[in-house]
Amino acid sequence: MKSSGTDYCIIWVQVNSIASPCRQCGHCCRSMGDVLGIVEQLNDHKYRIQYLITGIEQIVSLDPDKQNLFQEHPNYNHQPLVCPFLRERGEGIAVCTVYQSRPEICQIYTCSKS
Ligand code: SF4
Ligand code: SF4
Repeated sequence: MKSSGTDYCIIWVQVNSIASPCRQCGHCCRSMGDVLGIVEQLNDHKYRIQYLITGIEQIVSLDPDKQNLFQEHPNYNHQPLVCPFLRERGEGIAVCTVYQSRPEICQIYTCSKS
């Protein structure tokens, strides 16, 4: 069967991601404010979020070891489209504060950065 250009691209991204583990640069999360948003805070650590295009909702919780980081740094570099759960820890290290319960779209994301 002949492969289309799209098939080739998907394979390349998957192979590339195996060779390139996450470097916590945060690039992939800096425009996700256009994709998902917080609808409601349910308690101190739990949030109801919504995919802005489909309207599908999901519950996420702050990771226990990142609750202070989330509270103490309310905005990541004041960038308007950044995901509301992204925080900077130390020297340019980007951290997902809901990593353990992160949205499904984030769980299936395959990094293409080398
Ligand atoms: S998945 Fe890729 S783009 Fe996202 S933080 Fe990791 S290295 Fe950066
Ligand atoms: S929930 Fe976490 S992984 Fe998903 S875009 Fe936000 S910071 Fe990135």
